[in-house]
Amino acid sequence: MTVEKILAKLVSFPVLGGESNMSILNWIKDYIATYGVTVNLVPNQEGTKASLHCRIGPAVDGGIILSGHMDVVPVVGQEWSTDPFVLTDKGDGKLYGRGSCDMKGFLACCLAALPEMVKADLKKPIYFAFSYDEEVGCLAAPELARAIKTQYGETPKYALIGEPSLMEPIVGQKGIYILETYVNGSAGHSSRIKQEVSAIHEAMRLILWLENKMDRLIADGRLDDRFHPPHSSIHIGLVNGGIAPNVIADKAHFYWDLRTIPMDDIQAIVAEFEAYCRQRENELQGIFPDFSIKTVENHPPVPHLDTKADDAIVALIKRISGSSKLDTVSYAAEAGQFANEGFHSAICGPGSIAQAHRADEFIAKEQLAKGMEMMDKLIKELSSGNFA
Ligand SMILES: [Zn+2]
Repeated sequence: MTVEKILAKLVSFPVLGGESNMSILNWIKDYIATYGVTVNLVPNQEGTKASLHCRIGPAVDGGIILSGHMDVVPVVGQEWSTDPFVLTDKGDGKLYGRGSCDMKGFLACCLAALPEMVKADLKKPIYFAFSYDEEVGCLAAPELARAIKTQYGETPKYALIGEPSLMEPIVGQKGIYILETYVNGSAGHSSRIKQEVSAIHEAMRLILWLENKMDRLIADGRLDDRFHPPHSSIHIGLVNGGIAPNVIADKAHFYWDLRTIPMDDIQAIVAEFEAYCRQRENELQGIFPDFSIKTVENHPPVPHLDTKADDAIVALIKRISGSSKLDTVSYAAEAGQFANEGFHSAICGPGSIAQAHRADEFIAKEQLAKGMEMMDKLIKELSSGNFA
């Protein structure tokens, strides 16, 4: 099957992040099995979703994981000029469809190159690692990366995450953590604001603390020019609380996210915030004994990626992608999770992130061709005896 035919097939499965992915999973699984490759599944507890991984080539240490996600973002509320789940060639050199770019284009390149991989005399193996639920918070990749380490007696060295990067190597990614904070105060007539504890007033104090924390990090010179913006950011995106102007609010909550540069520690920032919350609880429980502040995780943290420019994976990707401009991104991806499991990791894939998640998402045919070229060069690298 040509890469375009495979991409059309993959796009036809409208599997959104959070949904069961068994339809697309089974198709890919059967396709891979056709070439005599054993496919391993990493299912969720309910058995409604699964990641898959497989190994092509010899059972030896080293080699590379090609990683991608099977899920896509929704199309509701977007104005598409074509059917998002039918890959459409408008004759303008682009192939339109949801996920064509993010990131079924890369998966299609992996699958289209599979026959060549199987035929080649690989000295080091290639692994496929395809996940689900990436678009709702990179939920499945940590387990998938661990499964690869435990399933095989040998360990791959590299992980290439094929997110759309216009085939440029991406070596840095901010860490991301999403939290919810709940403030429990005491209700009363608004005139009694000094006798009660307003959950809204306290929530606002906490929000300002978070903003000040971000400003303090910046003032302390905690900057990494590889990223845009170069500092860690803390942002509150949703606030709720209160019922009327003359009623002191007993409940308030807000959602916030942290996007950290590699030198800043997500957990340390959260711990400092928690210490401030305990201090406020102590101060205000004298007025209202049940006053409390509780912060819970909305999304597990997605770790940062901080691959050094002289890392061996960078040299490899430069050789096979034909691009030497290193870059960083501020979106979440699974690369940091693979790096956390000890694999030398970087992002590089066909298509532009600018086309991802929007109406009329497309991948340029020229990008798809470059993706196939990368697979070709990778096979040659791994077939040569001198690959590390
Ligand atoms: Zn993606």
